[in-house]
Amino acid sequence: MSIKKREDADCNACGRRLTSWDRRLSKSLGYRYPVCEACIAREYDMDVQVLRERMEDFYGMRPCQGL
Ligand SMILES: [Zn+2]
Repeated sequence: MSIKKREDADCNACGRRLTSWDRRLSKSLGYRYPVCEACIAREYDMDVQVLRERMEDFYGMRPCQGL
């Protein structure tokens, strides 16, 4: 009997599998439902790379290794 927390597993916009980095981003930006960084970047009209740099600057956050 495992309770699957679907809302934590996939992007609520595109359905992509979320990484812990995606979840952290969503949380920091106040998203009620987690979305992936690609969708966040699109929403902010930003390049994913730019978004990552911004997050690093503003929040001192770093993407997971291997991203
Ligand atoms: Zn997405």
